[in-house]
Amino acid sequence: MKSVAARKTEGGMVELERQAIDDFRGRLRGTLLLSGDPGYDDARSIWNAMIDRRPALIARCLGVADVVACVNFARKQGLSLSIKGGGHNISGLAVCDGGLTIDMSLMRGVFVDPTARTAHAQAGCLLGDVDRETQLHGLAANLGFVSNTGIAGLTLGGGFGYLTRRFGWTCDTVLSMDVVTAEGNVVRASERENPDLFWGLRGGGGNFGVVTRFEFKLNTVGPEIVGGAIAWRAEDAPRVLEMYRTLTEQAPPEFTCVAVLRPAPPAPWLSKEVHGKQIVAIFVCYTGPVEEGEKRVAPIKKFGKPVGDILQRRPYVSQQSLLDATQPKGRRYYWKSEYLPKYEPEMLSKLIDHAGHIVSPHSAIVVFPLDGAQNLLPDDYSPMGNRDAASVLNITASWESVDDDQANIGWARTAWQDMKRFSTGGTYINFLTEEEDNVRIKDAYRKTYDRLVEVKTKWDPTNLFRMNKNIAPRNL
Ligand SMILES: Cc1cc2nc3c(=O)[nH]c(=O)nc-3n(C[C@H](O)[C@H](O)[C@H](O)COP(=O)(O)OP(=O)(O)OC[C@H]3O[C@@H](n4cnc5c(N)ncnc54)[C@H](O)[C@@H]3O)c2cc1C
Repeated sequence: MKSVAARKTEGGMVELERQAIDDFRGRLRGTLLLSGDPGYDDARSIWNAMIDRRPALIARCLGVADVVACVNFARKQGLSLSIKGGGHNISGLAVCDGGLTIDMSLMRGVFVDPTARTAHAQAGCLLGDVDRETQLHGLAANLGFVSNTGIAGLTLGGGFGYLTRRFGWTCDTVLSMDVVTAEGNVVRASERENPDLFWGLRGGGGNFGVVTRFEFKLNTVGPEIVGGAIAWRAEDAPRVLEMYRTLTEQAPPEFTCVAVLRPAPPAPWLSKEVHGKQIVAIFVCYTGPVEEGEKRVAPIKKFGKPVGDILQRRPYVSQQSLLDATQPKGRRYYWKSEYLPKYEPEMLSKLIDHAGHIVSPHSAIVVFPLDGAQNLLPDDYSPMGNRDAASVLNITASWESVDDDQANIGWARTAWQDMKRFSTGGTYINFLTEEEDNVRIKDAYRKTYDRLVEVKTKWDPTNLFRMNKNIAPRNL
């Protein structure tokens, strides 16, 4: 029988037979792509251009039955398997070399029940898809900061955004999920049905199955909020970060401020004189009553001499895409991240030092607040744990040419080595890079890791789902 696609197994590269592929294709409603097919390169491309993997097969699923066919085919053929949601994971976990990639990106339906205040979203949705539909009703799910990130990877790995201080990790606000298990069964995971699986999925990543549908709890947000960004020259950074610290420590949960240190991009809202020069910016979002929001941002707007200010009333959906342009698909990216317990003045001044050594115009140091609702839940409420974190620090190197890899990665590592001493000891699973494996995965879960191993051992004992920040089953 003629073989048409290489596949990779534990034993090395072997070949898939045309008949097997044709049979598999016949079981799908969606399209099956092989290398050389139109759309193959687009389907295997992901946000981080550092990752360039070539799956033997990419199945563009159109429904749950397609996902079941994929899982069964991969298991029977001994193929490695990856799951692509929004393709934003920095480690490139969405695509595998020589195996089967389940591409969920065509499954983007969102169904809002405004009375029950819930949204059911298919797993290929991007954050913006969900916000767009929920905001019709003045409701929002608790999602992240960049609208073209996938809901699946973000939610399964925890998730945080402008609403985190009010409502906790994204995964803390999920009510149920539909899952295709390693055996190819379709099950529901919720507090009542398969509660152990439900627990594991809320932070344990794609380790336990393919999620096809998420049910999110919604809250009243917007549609108009007070938010935007404001920036100052680098010389003002010590005073601005001190203001940021006091503001954030005293802020009600409706008020979220993200601090960013970076060279100014050529954005129209920033004064031309600072383009390419170091700045400090605060991205602000107040989701309580807009009149109150305007009072809260007034002192920030009056502080020093801003070089750009777009802090105003705006639609919540516009706030949710404010950072999109700074994170385009197709650049080279490398991150280092830690949870921080509080904003120590020495830590803030060190951040300013490291920002001064950034080597690419696109890189940044970002501090996202996490303090609030998530700190109040018990440590093992979901595998995310880390309920001692007040914020997450992300040292984000971003550049264009392979020739600049060493300099940019070197900058991020040096800054991280120095900043690690301020860490809680924990790190965000969704920000881990390709090289960060077992030790860092344990750092990400800390107290909940052993329980995750139990859940993995029950639901995926052969580790079919291993193209992720892997939690290996016991005895493997
Ligand atoms: C520009 C940018 C902004 C970000 N902003 C935030 C933010 O504000 N808040 C935040 O918390 N995080 C943020 N992140 C991190 C983000 O949460 C992770 O990158 C996440 O993995 C992205 O999800 P995705 O679906 O796009 O990932 P993909 O790369 O498609 O998938 C990542 C992993 O998720 C798993 N997975 C995907 N789909 C499924 C599924 N249906 N079933 C089971 N497993 C699945 C797979 O194991 C895969 O390995 C950001 C990332 C980027 C690049």
